[in-house]
Amino acid sequence: MLVSIIIPVYNEGEHIEENILAIRDRSKTENVIFEFVLVDDGSADDSWQAMQRVSERLNACRLIRLSRNFGKEAAVTAGLAQAVGEACIVMDSDLQHPPEIIPEMIRLWSEEGYEVVDAVKADRGRESFLYKLFARLFYGSFNKLSGLELEGASDFKLMDRKAVDAWKAMPERATFFRGMSTWVGFRHIAIPFEVAARAGGKTKWSFRKLAGLAVGAITSFSALPLQLVTVTGLIFLIGAIVLGIETLVMWILGHAASGFTTVILLLLIIGSLLMLSLGVIGTYIAKIYDEVKARPRYIIAEEKCSARREIEK
Ligand code: UDP
Ligand code: MG
Repeated sequence: MLVSIIIPVYNEGEHIEENILAIRDRSKTENVIFEFVLVDDGSADDSWQAMQRVSERLNACRLIRLSRNFGKEAAVTAGLAQAVGEACIVMDSDLQHPPEIIPEMIRLWSEEGYEVVDAVKADRGRESFLYKLFARLFYGSFNKLSGLELEGASDFKLMDRKAVDAWKAMPERATFFRGMSTWVGFRHIAIPFEVAARAGGKTKWSFRKLAGLAVGAITSFSALPLQLVTVTGLIFLIGAIVLGIETLVMWILGHAASGFTTVILLLLIIGSLLMLSLGVIGTYIAKIYDEVKARPRYIIAEEKCSARREIEK
């Protein structure tokens, strides 16, 4: 059996060789040939050279270099597009996704017939309180809004060829791997893993990048925020009718004037709600604009393939 392991790499030059060799050694499985698909996401360091060196020590390896940093989602997309295995495993290059569970993932796929094996975080590792809080908040609202359950999800997954092809058939520019691989359905099974500490280097995600990913994910999977605008409008309409009647009655009875505080408060509340609503609508318009431009998701600058004979059937 041929199984592809897809690994996005961004500025990991220092330790990528050791990490890939560790993944190779620790994931050994009987009757399985691994094809490594390493995607250099426009690293500014010597990751590409290191990847070329390590590729010579692997059985079968495809190297892809993107023309600039397109982000992890695009790197994973590029890897999935090139992989030829009967199943594809996506994992990080920093050993935070333990390769020891790969044989078990493959067993669940090949023997028990599961088409997607999700490795889920047993606990969230050593993340800060704030990070955990935001992750909770994001997965909670994503679940409410899209109806897809992602709590504890990670990008560490095995997908059968059928699931990969279904995934590849989705044409959107803004990809969200976790959400889309759940959305395609198929027989899923989750296996827990302990998040290890990062092996060398530091995280490539800033708070801004993560917030962007969260907003992108929610707007890609749900139009409910737009309907919330309508609902808020309706609530305010009811308020408007009640207050309008009250004002008219007061006027008729000759008690008008006063009520300055009410006016100021209404102005402030309605003003900010209007702006917020415009923001929500604007976010969706930006999304439509991005999709309509239909630019490629990534651009490949260079590709290398070793031991092709062995892979091509
Ligand atoms: N990564 C990437 N492009 C980016 C950022 C990250 O390809 O713009 C890769 C990175 O090399 C690693 C994986 O995505 O293999 C996960 O990144 P990281 O470990 O920094 O994220 P964290 O584990 O902190 O969520
Ligand atoms: Mg990591």
